[in-house]
Amino acid sequence: GRPRVVVVGGGAGGATVARYLAKDSQGQIDVTLVEPTRHYYTCFFSNLYIGGFRDIASIGHSYGKLAAEYGINVVHDWAVGVDRDAKTVTLAGGAVLPYDRLVLSPGIDFVDGSVPGWDVTVQNKMPHAYKAGSQSELLKAQIEAMPQGGRFAMVAPPNPYRCPPGPYERISMVAHLLTQVNPTAKILLVDPKDKYSKQALFEEGWAKHYPGMVERIGPDFGGDKVEVRADAMEVVIDGTVEKVDVCNVIPGQKAGRICEMAGITDGNWAPVTGYTMQSRIDGTIYVLGDATAQGDMPKSGYSANSQAKVAAMAIRGELLGSSVFPAKFSNTCWSLIAPEDGVKVGAAYEPTDEKIASVSSFVSQTGEDAALRKQTYEESLGWYAGITSDMFG
Ligand code: FAD
Repeated sequence: GRPRVVVVGGGAGGATVARYLAKDSQGQIDVTLVEPTRHYYTCFFSNLYIGGFRDIASIGHSYGKLAAEYGINVVHDWAVGVDRDAKTVTLAGGAVLPYDRLVLSPGIDFVDGSVPGWDVTVQNKMPHAYKAGSQSELLKAQIEAMPQGGRFAMVAPPNPYRCPPGPYERISMVAHLLTQVNPTAKILLVDPKDKYSKQALFEEGWAKHYPGMVERIGPDFGGDKVEVRADAMEVVIDGTVEKVDVCNVIPGQKAGRICEMAGITDGNWAPVTGYTMQSRIDGTIYVLGDATAQGDMPKSGYSANSQAKVAAMAIRGELLGSSVFPAKFSNTCWSLIAPEDGVKVGAAYEPTDEKIASVSSFVSQTGEDAALRKQTYEESLGWYAGITSDMFG
């Protein structure tokens, strides 16, 4: 029969690799995609939803075309086990899927105890909104319901985590929303990191668009010694209790748990070789996106999509003998600071024996004029349309 590839996770990495495998092999590979949700809400642009620039439906995508147009067997279930000797994946519903090659792109899970007082049992009181959909809607509703002059807090994550500029784009979008509905409200950003992605650009933007609204507490003032009390809506920073009205806790992160269950993690992440995106622990398993330890690429949707194309090519080469070209990767992270004020950071990458290495990079500059910022924002709209059709057809 046809060689079988099972893909776990229908997000930026998994949907892309499934679609490329099906499309480019013209049906010669039997592709099964395992994904519990019927609608995938992109984390990318979920901050723009919070800011009021997109509606929730516009960031939701279904798997219908992958099944109907590409012949992918889309199974809505959780993978709960991988038997690497038998080469099978077990699903929560009991099915056992045999594979010749397995691709894992499960995204992230949260590190237990990362923020004392927080775990998923309190995520309705203190949402993370770092997996998009209902959490994004909840966080936005809470912000809209804040008392006038109230206080929004974010507990930012330690490195490494998905979307390095994501928390700071979120601060920008929350500030924009508050400027519209609650202009005397304040934002408290508690951050365990000394510095962060595009910091100078965000700080310039906050001072310009939201003067006096955002206060950041870094590790020098206890930003790395934080505890939360969800029932009391308190954030305790190095012993000092702060009462807040909304608290967005973004905990420390690790590879989606199926990687650990498959036994392919080293610490929190799954090491891969950048030549092919194969696991360094089991060469019949490929790992994509946020779950990987690969080197210089940030954990982003763009990165996961770029890695998926390299993996699809390598898998077709192995299973069908089709030609394989040297791996190349790219990434850009766009962030919206205020209406039509977009910034970006990006790079091109190539694999070495040790890691995926950055070979050239670019970043927006402070002081850029409005026309250039508008153009950067418009580029991001084109990118969103492009990546979502690359994922879902
Ligand atoms: P995901 O896209 O999260 O997909 C993982 C999928 O696997 C999920 O659908 C999940 O349901 C499924 N899954 C998990 N475990 C199992 C299992 N056991 N069995 C079956 N299925 C499973 N990136 C950008 O490039 N640009 C941006 O502008 C951007 N903005 C962001 C803003 C925010 C607020 C956030 C949080 C992230 C942002 N990102 C952005 C990052 C981007 O969303 C992630 O890096 C990207 O989604 C990673 O792709 P992935 O395939 O690794 O994981």
